[in-house]
Amino acid sequence: MKWFDYVAPRSVAEAVGLLSTRPQARPLAGGTDLLVQLRSGGKETDLVIDVKHIPELNHIRYDPAGGLTLGAAAPCCRIYEDQAVKQAYPALADVAALIGGRQIQNRASIGGNLCNAAPSADSIPVLIAHGAVCRVAGPGGTREIAAENFCTAPGRTVLQPGDLLVALHLPRPPARFAAHYLRFTPRNEMDIAVAGAGVAVWLENGAFRSARIALSAVAPTPLYVREAGEWLAGKPVNGESVNKAAEMAKEAARPITDMRGTAEFRRHLCAVLTRRALEAAIQRAKEARS
Ligand SMILES: Cc1cc2nc3c(=O)[nH]c(=O)nc-3n(C[C@H](O)[C@H](O)[C@H](O)COP(=O)(O)OP(=O)(O)OC[C@H]3O[C@@H](n4cnc5c(N)ncnc54)[C@H](O)[C@@H]3O)c2cc1C
Repeated sequence: MKWFDYVAPRSVAEAVGLLSTRPQARPLAGGTDLLVQLRSGGKETDLVIDVKHIPELNHIRYDPAGGLTLGAAAPCCRIYEDQAVKQAYPALADVAALIGGRQIQNRASIGGNLCNAAPSADSIPVLIAHGAVCRVAGPGGTREIAAENFCTAPGRTVLQPGDLLVALHLPRPPARFAAHYLRFTPRNEMDIAVAGAGVAVWLENGAFRSARIALSAVAPTPLYVREAGEWLAGKPVNGESVNKAAEMAKEAARPITDMRGTAEFRRHLCAVLTRRALEAAIQRAKEARS
């Protein structure tokens, strides 16, 4: 690994100032992607900016009226141990517990998962399904970006030089709303998804009031299948509707063949995972109290 400087700023302004003046600088949250990439030569830097010491990036705050504000660097273990998250956002708690193993979860953040922009990133379909909004601070001020618009290519995001992801905001889940994420991996843990599906449903009088569906590992970026969710709106909650939406997700996928699976297998998985994730989310929504 090449030598680099290390700094641990205490404020967003300080971090943005450093990112703006040192073009090669890279933020480090958990480091579970970054350090691997620096070691392998996949990425280079002359300055690592450790953002774990910035209070705003570590908050996990749930306001029953406004929703969840998740600091970009908050580690997965704090997310899945948080009572409010477990109760109001169980799919987020599930996915935080799915990323890597215990050691990884003690460091890895959802913000890092998003900024790393791997097509297989497990948390991104859940963020998209929840309608999460990303709060970014940069030299020109603060702006908000919908989670589905954040990744632009493998390993690339909308972030510009000087930008720092500060937090993610997930709207308050209404009554009879729930999300769910499923992935397929050849091994149970410590491997990336061959395909994944994150869904959210909002039910009303036996029909879908709204739905959102997103896929992982089947396109150059995590894929928001807007048309499948919009098609479900107003449809009865039954197997026929679920199957049709699952087929639409399969049609939207643009997978490749690699050592983990063929494109054909991945397309098949999209339908199976979307159907099962929808069924699980529907069950959860029927049980949801808030
Ligand atoms: C053994 C192992 C198992 C893994 N298992 C999984 C898995 O099951 N599922 C999965 O999806 N991933 C997995 N990963 C990948 C990784 O752990 C996750 O992507 C993790 O969420 C990254 O978070 P981090 O905080 O460690 O990010 P970091 O490594 O700190 O950062 C990742 C990237 O984002 C940038 N970045 C970080 N924070 C910010 C910010 N606030 N603003 C702007 N840019 C920022 C960094 O510069 C870097 O480019 C695994 C990794 C390992 C080593």
